[in-house]
Amino acid sequence: MVTVDVQAGCEDFAALLAELDPGSYSGADCAEVVRLLARVEKRCAGVRILFAARAVECAGYRGQGYSNPRTWLAQTTGVSSGQANQALETAAGLSACPETKEALLAGDLSLDQAAVIIKTEAVAPGSETDLLAQAATASLSRLADEGRRRRLVAADPGDAEAAHDRQRRERYARYWQDGDGIGHVAGSWPVETWVPLTNRIDAEVDAMLRQAKRDGVEPEPVERLRADAVARLINGGGLSRRPARPELVLVCDVAAFQRGHSEGGETCQVIGGGPVPVEVARELAVSAFIKGVLHDGKTIQQVAHFRGRYRCAELATALSLGPPPLFLGVACVDCGRRYGIEWDHIDPVAHGGATSYENVKPRCYACHRDKTERDRAAGLLTAHPPGNDQTGTPTPPTSPSPAPSSTDAPPPRPAASSAAAAVEARSTVTPAAHRAATAPVSVPGLTPPTPAGATPPAITPIPARKKPRAAA
Ligand SMILES: [Zn+2]
Repeated sequence: MVTVDVQAGCEDFAALLAELDPGSYSGADCAEVVRLLARVEKRCAGVRILFAARAVECAGYRGQGYSNPRTWLAQTTGVSSGQANQALETAAGLSACPETKEALLAGDLSLDQAAVIIKTEAVAPGSETDLLAQAATASLSRLADEGRRRRLVAADPGDAEAAHDRQRRERYARYWQDGDGIGHVAGSWPVETWVPLTNRIDAEVDAMLRQAKRDGVEPEPVERLRADAVARLINGGGLSRRPARPELVLVCDVAAFQRGHSEGGETCQVIGGGPVPVEVARELAVSAFIKGVLHDGKTIQQVAHFRGRYRCAELATALSLGPPPLFLGVACVDCGRRYGIEWDHIDPVAHGGATSYENVKPRCYACHRDKTERDRAAGLLTAHPPGNDQTGTPTPPTSPSPAPSSTDAPPPRPAASSAAAAVEARSTVTPAAHRAATAPVSVPGLTPPTPAGATPPAITPIPARKKPRAAA
C-alpha cells in the first residue's frame, strides 16, 4: 500500500515527539521547540485538508463507515462539524489562491489565517498578497478585521439587504442540558440585535475584570466571565449599572438615510457588526439619538483638542467608532482584542500631548501594560501631572483619560473641517430609549432625524477649543 511510507514517517515523528521532555530544555530552547512544532502543525493541517478534500471528492470516507463527509472529518479530526466544513471550504478555495496554498504548506500560515484570506480574495480580488504580508506579523483577529474591512469596501449595497434577510430568516435560540447536567445555549441573531447584546456582555466582563483588579485577585478566564455575565444580565444584578459604551452605533451617509437606500460607496453599517440596509437604520433611528461626524473619507474633522483629564463626549463618540471611513469599532491596536480596552496617549501628557482624536489610541489592558513597561525602561515616565496614573487603570472607552505613553510622534493633524466632503449620521440606541420609544432627542449642535422627503438635518461641526501644543 502507498500509505505504508506515510505511516512509517508518522511513526518516526511520533517516536521523536514521545522522547521530548520539556523539563530537560532551557526556557529559550522550549520557546524554540514551540516555534518549530507550530510550523509542523500548520504544514500538517494544510496537507491534511487537501487529502480530506480528495477523500470527500472520491467518497473515500465511506470505507471508514460514514455516509456524511462532514461527520467523518469532524469525528476523525476531533472538531465540530462546522469547523470540518470550514476546513473543506478552505481546501476548495486554495486552488484560487496559489500564494496562500504555498504559505500554508510551508508552515507560514494557519488554517484560520488561510480561511480569512481565501474568503476575502473571493469577495475583494487582489487582496491575497497584502493579507499574506499582514498574516506574517499581525494577530489573527487583526487579520480578520482587515479581511472584513476589505470585504465591506468591495460589497454591493444590495448585498447588505440580502445578508440582512438571511440574518432575519436564520435567527434561532436553542438551549439544552447534557448528560452531566451542564446547560448549553446556542443561537443566531441579526446584527442590530447581536451587537447591543454582545456589547452589554463585554461591558459586564470589563466590569468584572476591573473588580478583580481592585480586589487584587487574578481574574478567571474570559470565557467563564462571559458565562457569568450572560446569567447576571438575564437575572439582573450585573456589576455594570449602565453600559460603559453606547450599545448600538450606526454610521449612515445622510444622503442615503434621507433617500431610504444607499447608492455607490455610501456607508450604512452597525459599528462592530457590519452593513445593514438603510431601511433598518431608519427604523432604529426612530428611537435614537442622532449625532454628526464629519469626515472627508479618511479623517475625522470635528473633534476638538482637549488637555489633561477633560471628559469630552464628542471625543469619546469619535473614538468609539474606530478609524474612518469604515468605522469598524474599537480594537486594541497591538493585538486586535475588543474587550478590556484602555486609551493610550501616543504623545505623553507629561510632554504636553493632547487628549485628542489623533493622540489617543485603544490598547487592551495587557498590551497597554507591556507598552508602559517599554516606556518606563526607556525612561519616558519621569514627569507626570497630578492625578496621572502610570499603572494603566482600566478606563471605559467612553471616558478617555490620561494614561501611559510612548515616544512615537503623533500623526499629522487632519485638514480643517471645511474640507469635509462627507457627513455621517450616527444614531445611538440606548435600551431605555428603545423601551420608551420616545421621540428623538436633540444633541447640542445637531438636530434629530427628519422623515423621508423632509429637509436633511443640519449638522454643525463642533469647533476646536484649543490649538494643540507642538508635541514634545
Ligand atoms: Zn492588545
